[in-house]
Amino acid sequence: MAASKLLQKMIMNAMNETKVCLTCNKPIRGRTDKRFCDDQCRSTYHNQTRPPLSDFARAVNRHLQKNRAVLMQLVTDPSGRAVVTKAKMEDMGFAFHYHTHTYTNKKGNTYFYTYEYGWLELPQGKCLVLKREGT
Ligand SMILES: [Zn+2]
Repeated sequence: MAASKLLQKMIMNAMNETKVCLTCNKPIRGRTDKRFCDDQCRSTYHNQTRPPLSDFARAVNRHLQKNRAVLMQLVTDPSGRAVVTKAKMEDMGFAFHYHTHTYTNKKGNTYFYTYEYGWLELPQGKCLVLKREGT
């Protein structure tokens, strides 16, 4: 759908009491903040607006998901932290150069994250692995 048509529909929706589904144009009943008539229309809409993934992007996503799964398996302590060897992480399929973001604290230590799980390299081939607080 052309962007201007979609924008027009959104404006009409904002102005009118009766909203229409952004995918199928059927009137929407219920909550006033709804944009789609059902889950199928929601996923159809999002699949249309999301650009298709390249093979490279798919491969990166696989590494990120794998890294997250490994960290999740390692961080079982209620403290949300554990110390493990890098060798063990690699044996579990961890790929160190894939991460979603970094955090450098005041001491200058850089934590690498894949989503809500992170790691900090320690001396002697070890890592502190952790889950982000509040997640
Ligand atoms: Zn619909």
